This record gives sequence, C-alpha cells and structure tokens, in this order.
Amino acid sequence: MLAKMPEFIDPILLADRNASIEGELPVSSLDRLAAMLSNDDGNVAVKLFFGKVGKLATVEGHISAILAVKCQRCLEAVEWPISSDIKLAVVHSLALANKLSDGYEPLYLADEEKIPLKNIVEDELLLSLPDIPKHQHDCIAPNSPKNMSARSHKAGEAPMESPFSILAELQNQKKLETKNGSTKK
Ligand SMILES: [Zn+2]
Repeated sequence: MLAKMPEFIDPILLADRNASIEGELPVSSLDRLAAMLSNDDGNVAVKLFFGKVGKLATVEGHISAILAVKCQRCLEAVEWPISSDIKLAVVHSLALANKLSDGYEPLYLADEEKIPLKNIVEDELLLSLPDIPKHQHDCIAPNSPKNMSARSHKAGEAPMESPFSILAELQNQKKLETKNGSTKK
C-alpha cells in the first residue's frame, strides 16, 4: 500500500525542498469529476515532483486512472483510460500566468499558501475527459427500436428469467386482471 497522500499541499514550500509526492486518490473523493461519471470506483495514481525554474515554483508529474465515463449514446459506462502529464508553474497573478513559457500551465495561487492536492488532480482529469464520450463500437441509444430488438435477442441468448417465472408472472397478471374486472362489476 502506498502512503496516504496529504490533503493540502504548500507548492512553494515543496518546491523549495524539491519534494515529491506519490500515491493514489480515490475517484470518489473528487466530487466534481465523480458527478460526471457512471460510477466512482477506482483510484487515480498520482506522481508529482516539485522544483524550481528560475524563481518559479513548478509541479510536474503524471496522473493515470481508468474512469467509468457515461457513454453519451447508450448511457452505459465506458472504461476511459487517462494518462496525463502535469506541468504547472505556481503564479500569483494572471499577468504572470500569461507570461509562462516552455509548456507550463499556470497553477494560480491567490493569497492562500496551501491548496487541496486533489484540486490539481481533478482539474487535470476534467481537462483530459472527452466532451462527448462514446463507446468505440456501434452502441445503440436506449430508446431506439433497434435497441429493443437487440435486447430481446440478447435475452434469448442468455435468459435472465426462467420461462417458468415469466409464465407465473403472466398468470398472476391474468389473475389480477380478472380480479380488477370483478371488483368493477
Ligand atoms: Zn455506448
């Protein structure tokens, strides 16, 4: 098991120390992200190195996860592997943020010293997610008539219910119907 990761980090202090952080964050702890997923199972593997480029404190590293995103066609879960490099420079003003070069993205700190570690991870994951995730195969929208036949076909291959339980259900339904009919009289 990897060591538990800190909830809050001070990127400037960590950069001064050339510190590194490695561990896993549960997807369920990332509220904004989890709200967009089909389920919040699993973890995000996080590896971050803090350092300095000139006067700038930097955060570089890598995050990876397999997220269960919701297919926008059939609404079922799609396993979406994400493997993303992080390259951030800590800035205290938007003017500085616009001046960053070498592919650094701004990690904006206003007056606070510490920020939630999960914000860095969550922002990166949100950026990495596709706008409209879909299955690679030709999945079918739940309300299309094509899908109905696909489903009954599937049921024929691997029946969820035994024919007897369906028969019993039908008989019950009949009984109910006659019952209702008799009360109406
Ligand atoms: Zn789909």
